[in-house]
Amino acid sequence: MKAVRLHAYHQQPVVQDVPEPGVKGPFDVVVKIGGAGVCRTDLHIIEEQWAEKSGVTLPYTIGHENAGWVHEIGSAVSNVAVGDTVILHPTPTCGLCQACRAGDDMHCVNSTFPGINTDGGMAEYLLTSARACIKLNPSTRPEDVAALADAGITAYHAVRKAVPLLYPGTVCVVNGAGGLGHIGIQALAALTATTIIVVDRNEDALKLASTLGADHTVVADGKHVAAVLDLTSGNGAEVVLDFVAEQGAQQDAFAMTRRAGSHFVIGYGSNIDIPTIDIISTERNVIGNLVGTYNDLAELMVLAQAGKVTLHTRQYPLDAALDALADLDAGRVRGRAILTP
Ligand SMILES: [Zn+2]
Ligand SMILES: [Zn+2]
Repeated sequence: MKAVRLHAYHQQPVVQDVPEPGVKGPFDVVVKIGGAGVCRTDLHIIEEQWAEKSGVTLPYTIGHENAGWVHEIGSAVSNVAVGDTVILHPTPTCGLCQACRAGDDMHCVNSTFPGINTDGGMAEYLLTSARACIKLNPSTRPEDVAALADAGITAYHAVRKAVPLLYPGTVCVVNGAGGLGHIGIQALAALTATTIIVVDRNEDALKLASTLGADHTVVADGKHVAAVLDLTSGNGAEVVLDFVAEQGAQQDAFAMTRRAGSHFVIGYGSNIDIPTIDIISTERNVIGNLVGTYNDLAELMVLAQAGKVTLHTRQYPLDAALDALADLDAGRVRGRAILTP
């Protein structure tokens, strides 16, 4: 089969023939890939940013946002059958550790992360496990939903955690309305009655935000913190979801959070520098967010299949994987780039 293989850091991956994966363990599932999302994390992998954390041995196949059809199942698999349309939770987990038993999939002590530390889904077939498969309506096109497996679940997870804080009368700021942020806005609109303020530098992104559920939009032009304070009687927002978290946006996000409010860090790339006296005297919380749970993705798929969360995509054949990576790197992709093996 064809696969997008990374042979060396700081060099482009190669589309080449490799052996198809097969079922080995009783809970293994091989999925025929219908859509594989192309993500900024793939660029960071090529740049060697993940090398130490993942410990992956090169060469390997990248691609961690995957959906398709079940192709082969192990002897103990009972939740999906050959031919089912599925989206895959990004980490096949053990199911036995304390984190798994708490439903906290991202902190499983014995999981893999295909596309990060084992062979991923930019290929015709992917080896995963029964625990990662979420069965979809058979009419769902994998290429339409694949990016929800990482970008979508990450935005949804943060919103889902913030829901108890976002009762009617509250304000939530969405900092950044790009790939993740535009899903976050839709999830907020679907799950809460909070007032949604969206901040972004890009006017087109703000126009899109208005159609997706934003109550107010603010251009990130240097005066945006003051604008958000104006919209909130000088208090700031109960919750700020920071999908940017670099180049100063992370400091602005904290400044837009009201007393006793919560600043959710979702993007990554810079440091947060906050005087500790500001944290204790205002009781503001800074909260980390890592992808999401299996149930988060299952819930998000209910919203997606009901048309309440939609994703803008641009599709490329597997052979054009390098074009997709280059377009993403150059900022030429509107929405999300998807490979369709
Ligand atoms: Zn991703
Ligand atoms: Zn586990």
